[in-house]
Amino acid sequence: MHPLKTLPGIILKAHSGFFTVHTEAGAFICQLRGRLKKVRRSDDLAAIGDRVEISTQPDGAGMIEAVLPRRSALLRRAPFGGKRVKEEKDKAQVIIANADQAVFVFACAEPGPHLRMLDRFLVLAEAEHLPAVICANKRDLVTPEVAQELFGLYPLLGYRVIYTSAATGAGVAELRQALKGKISVFAGPSGVGKSSLLNAVQPGLGLRTREVSQATTKGLHTTVYPELFPLDEGGFVADTPGLRALTLWDIEPEELDGYFVELRSLVSQCGFSDCTHIHEPGCAVRRAVETGQVSSSRYDSYCRLRAGDF
Ligand code: GDP
Ligand code: ZN
Repeated sequence: MHPLKTLPGIILKAHSGFFTVHTEAGAFICQLRGRLKKVRRSDDLAAIGDRVEISTQPDGAGMIEAVLPRRSALLRRAPFGGKRVKEEKDKAQVIIANADQAVFVFACAEPGPHLRMLDRFLVLAEAEHLPAVICANKRDLVTPEVAQELFGLYPLLGYRVIYTSAATGAGVAELRQALKGKISVFAGPSGVGKSSLLNAVQPGLGLRTREVSQATTKGLHTTVYPELFPLDEGGFVADTPGLRALTLWDIEPEELDGYFVELRSLVSQCGFSDCTHIHEPGCAVRRAVETGQVSSSRYDSYCRLRAGDF
């Protein structure tokens, strides 16, 4: 018997038992080899972003013969309302496997950046150990000074900020470079220019991702899965449904300070070991806010999230 010839690929899309797999030889619609399904596990066997080995048939169909070990997975842990077979109900659903970074897109103006939302996204990224890049789009609408006033805080915290304009093309090459060879999850409020920006990175890309996110907002009770889109220069992007589906429910209020990078190191200096940093005397966090070492904007985000105000 010949050894089975397989092709390495990556799952772009998962849809009721079928998987679109991207390979060097093109895309194949694949099913999972039956023996793979026999392994019991607590999460999905195969999800977008998973690296796989497939065998192909002359008609263009394929079979997933092996799923390579996952480096990471973003999970949807919230109760799942859709139709799933009984034994799958308690399983964690993998939104995306092997994501390398999150790209949070906000606009410098029209609409002005919702920094509370950005901070909330950053908390999620920290909790998921996902490196975050901030994209400050529509830089053509403000002066560099204003852009810096809005986003200048974040590089000091260790987050990379890329200032872009989908309208003029400024910063797009830098963004393209940041995406190269990586799996990136995009998120951001609507109207900030995400689709325009992705189109500027690669023609047609924004349009395709938009179809996915619109299907998600319109698809009332059907859960639309995110989809990965290949980049010509290597790498993949997934649009928002991935991150929107993540919630802070899993984060205990008392762990929240650990996900604000600038608060992490201060916490041990608070007078009380269970300090909430809201009202306690001898709080190192509040002292740092008073001296300006911690920005009041970030502290405000912390207080709101701590109070359960998302
Ligand atoms: P999305 O909802 O985040 O996908 O945003 P869109 O890509 O649909 O853009 C929303 C609006 O902002 C559209 O009218 C775009 O033409 C405009 N827009 C997007 N990027 C820029 C930019 O960099 N500068 C300016 N001035 N307008 C932009
Ligand atoms: Zn404190």
